[in-house]
Amino acid sequence: MARIPARTAAEFVPEDADLAGLKDAARSCEGCDLYLSATQTVFGDGDPDARVVLLGEQPGDQEDRRGQPFVGPAGRVLDQALVDAGIDRSRAYVTNAVKHFKFTRPERGKRRLHKTPNRAEILACRPWLEAELALLEPELLICLGATAAKAIFGPAFKVTEQRGIPLPRPNLGERSEHAGKRSEHRPAPVVVATIHPSAVLRAENQDEVYAGLVADLRVAADVLT
Ligand code: SF4
Repeated sequence: MARIPARTAAEFVPEDADLAGLKDAARSCEGCDLYLSATQTVFGDGDPDARVVLLGEQPGDQEDRRGQPFVGPAGRVLDQALVDAGIDRSRAYVTNAVKHFKFTRPERGKRRLHKTPNRAEILACRPWLEAELALLEPELLICLGATAAKAIFGPAFKVTEQRGIPLPRPNLGERSEHAGKRSEHRPAPVVVATIHPSAVLRAENQDEVYAGLVADLRVAADVLT
């Protein structure tokens, strides 16, 4: 059982809110210290009736400035990969395990460099993800990268070994006031993990890494058919 940090987003998550209400409330979240240096909360965005949820790690520099998930360079890779895999982003919901941008600044220059959120920050932010998933009840959750996959399956999960495989979605302990709408006729939720699209941008063999991302997303697309 994961140890829950003393301070989390739980007290900021409103009861009985819809997605718009959650998004609005998340603007004021102080569930961990990441809100202190980021520009704004970057909440999930997309189709409220989505069958598929795409889960990333955290907003990047451009997402932090614009307030929307996956709108920077990695988002453009994701968009193309979704097209190539036959998944319609406009009918999906896109979010992150952590809703504020974590970064460091090098000694020289103004660039903000991505820093991976730690386990305590992921757990602190999880009440938002639980509330999103409880409202959306997606048939398919696609975890983009190790942080997203570990947020769902726990720290022992290895994307390198288990990517591109449909797996049963564990229950995160979604709050009962949001959960419970699932029809008996809807299929059990499935998770497919793959790499984060930013890995394509960092790779020397970009074509090969991109092809692997698309192959995993095609496995995910088959879950929806
Ligand atoms: S990262 Fe999550 S828990 Fe931390 S302040 Fe932002 S929204 Fe709240």
